Amino acid sequence: MPSSARPLLMIPGPIEISEAALAAASGPPLSHLDPELIEHFGASLRAMRQVWRAAPTSQPFVLSGGGTLAMEAAACNLIDPGERVVVIDTGYFGDRMADILRRRGAAVVRLTVPLDEAVDLDRVERALDGRIKALFATHVDTSTGVRTDPGPLAELARANGALSVFDGVCATGAERFEMAEWGADLYLTASQKAIGLPAGLALWVASGRALRTRASLTKAPPLSLDFEAWRPVLQAYEAGEKRYLSTPATTLIPALRVSLEELLAEGMDEVFARHERAAAAMRAGFLALGLEELAGPAPLRANTLTALRYPEGVGPELLGRVRAHGVVIAGGLHPAHKDEYFRVGHLGVVTARPEALALTIRALGLGLADCGAKVDVEGAVSATLGHL
Ligand code: PMP
Repeated sequence: MPSSARPLLMIPGPIEISEAALAAASGPPLSHLDPELIEHFGASLRAMRQVWRAAPTSQPFVLSGGGTLAMEAAACNLIDPGERVVVIDTGYFGDRMADILRRRGAAVVRLTVPLDEAVDLDRVERALDGRIKALFATHVDTSTGVRTDPGPLAELARANGALSVFDGVCATGAERFEMAEWGADLYLTASQKAIGLPAGLALWVASGRALRTRASLTKAPPLSLDFEAWRPVLQAYEAGEKRYLSTPATTLIPALRVSLEELLAEGMDEVFARHERAAAAMRAGFLALGLEELAGPAPLRANTLTALRYPEGVGPELLGRVRAHGVVIAGGLHPAHKDEYFRVGHLGVVTARPEALALTIRALGLGLADCGAKVDVEGAVSATLGHL
């Protein structure tokens, strides 16, 4: 890699972003009450309903912050202290959700799912014993590359009188999610993942049922996270009217509109299919490099990232070697397995760029060779490109 060249970002977020989103995010700041900003905000909210495939009665939220802030907002707008919740724990971020809920005072029933197993729906149904206020799950756990299937979980929750909340931080805008059809109550993400922006925005859509739940809470959430405080402001933005609660990220909102409209112009079905194709191509390359996946059988593996075990004799020094060949990949994150594996993201605009995927496989192969592994680098690149 020439010393002046920026390495390609292939971690599971932040990710490479489109030229158009970058240009929109690089403009001079607008006043938070500028009609142009309000128009971008309103259009973004309308576009979110379509990207999330949410009902017209749902409410999209855009706040300055990250995915964790969206998780906090979900907890403190839906749960009163003392209420019971179920958290399906498929890795690091399920763990975090449980922590956030406990801090809110919830009684957390945690269902830990082994790495190589699908969520056991019978076990979930037994846990939803009629006293559970809400079920929380991670759509794609970024620490392991494990994907859960939200549809049946949302359905089970509804059938048992519980709300369902999904952390889509490493999935929204890449993995299929049908908020209205599945009857999910809250789906949250952050801007630096498949939505395709720099970090800085927490994004979620809440169902009508979730909004009514907030209205009936005993303990109000913090003002800056409150659905009820934000709702009239967001409704005003959609109506093209000025309103203020807290200054929005005025340079990111126009970019949000651009990136959401790019997804919609392509069509969500095609966006999901593109991520599936890219994941299959990357996996062909990983397999040809002799690498083994951390996540269990194929249906459990996300389309947005792959977690791979270090081969014999190779460890975290691999990351620096791969970076020297022009690509940034990520280390392990799951506390129990952290030093055994690394992660490669394949989400967002790179999935439409075969040359970026090929560069990643080549850099990984060369990095492995630098670490002493025996690999057929060009064979792996061909395996990837053969899939595209
Ligand atoms: N949930 C998941 C699944 C994530 O991948 C992340 C971030 N990697 C978060 C939550 C937290 O998001 P943030 O770092 O933006 O707070």
